[in-house]
Amino acid sequence: MQAVPFLDLRAGYHSLKPEIDAAVARVLDSGWYILGPEVETFEQAFSNYCEAAHCVGVANGLDALILSLRALDIRQGDEVIVPSNTFIATWLAVSAVGAIPVPVEPDPLTYNIDPTKIGSAVSPKTRAIIAVHLYGQPADLDPILAEAKHHQLAVIEDAAQAHGATYNGTRVGAHADLVCWSFYPGKNLGAMGDGGAVTTNRTDLSDRIRTLHNYGSRAKYVNEEQGTNSRLDPIQAAILCVKLEHLDDWTVRRRNLASNYLDNLKGVTLPHVPNWADPVWHLFVIRHHARDILMSKLAEEGISTMIHYPIPPHLQQAYADRGHDKGAFPLAEQFADDVLSLPIGPQMQREAQDKVIEAVNRLASQL
Ligand SMILES: *Cc1c(COP(=O)(O)O)cnc(C)c1O
Repeated sequence: MQAVPFLDLRAGYHSLKPEIDAAVARVLDSGWYILGPEVETFEQAFSNYCEAAHCVGVANGLDALILSLRALDIRQGDEVIVPSNTFIATWLAVSAVGAIPVPVEPDPLTYNIDPTKIGSAVSPKTRAIIAVHLYGQPADLDPILAEAKHHQLAVIEDAAQAHGATYNGTRVGAHADLVCWSFYPGKNLGAMGDGGAVTTNRTDLSDRIRTLHNYGSRAKYVNEEQGTNSRLDPIQAAILCVKLEHLDDWTVRRRNLASNYLDNLKGVTLPHVPNWADPVWHLFVIRHHARDILMSKLAEEGISTMIHYPIPPHLQQAYADRGHDKGAFPLAEQFADDVLSLPIGPQMQREAQDKVIEAVNRLASQL
């Protein structure tokens, strides 16, 4: 029995091994191991790719969010609107600057923050909205930006799962004030270690993040403010430059796999793609009322699946102090109970996908 992995990172490396090995060797040989030309080259390439004026490389996606909030002077006592249905990093960034994450439920069809529910979550303390492009599908940015303008709030996009996605035909990368990226290895554009970036069209915010991420300093040993150390590693930047060249091909492969899933899966709830979105399928998430049994039966047949995410942030022990009870955000809780991510990735072969489709269709109808 040929096992179907959830995602094969090693195959991804082997498909580009000569180029990646050469890039790593070049950095090692350069003697330049912090910031410098490799990081600058990647920042330029990624801002071009994202159709954004600026890109600042940082250490990881969580830091991209924290530095963005700091650049906006969001702090203790402020409130920030976040999706109830997201990876916990979105919330943790808000907490890290001392502000309070205020959850808003998703649109039940797209799983992304519901713009019509933002208004009632706004208070005099609200300073910003973080929209997450979950699973690689852009959130509905126009009404979110309109709501933000109406209430004079900043908007941050958490694009950690959405490299290359488009909203109304425009690349995700500079619709909002700041756009945050992760290059965690399993992301659509993944490094071989941690990495992250912020893209923006706002020169003031780009300058502020560039200062904050390097000890609050622009000139060596001159510290304008209490910054931090959160820099993109030049070895990772060199690897990301190689991989960025292939990202669009990989997205095409993900889209082909996704449309094959959409055309052929039966007996499960399939993802919905609104006409303004061109998603990049970081994850292909189905829903089924007997998710746990379906998952274990697929595992028995060698098919690896995952749950994104099994416990919503408001029910995590980490947020017990906020006092959100079970039932407080029913859609997020429902999704945690019935979502299942099927294998998808640029290296996945059609035969492996056919095996997944056959097994899901056979098992889902019996449960
Ligand atoms: C991966 C991810 C992050 C955090 O990125 P790291 O690089 O792991 O810190 C933030 N938000 C979302 C939605 C993510 O998927």
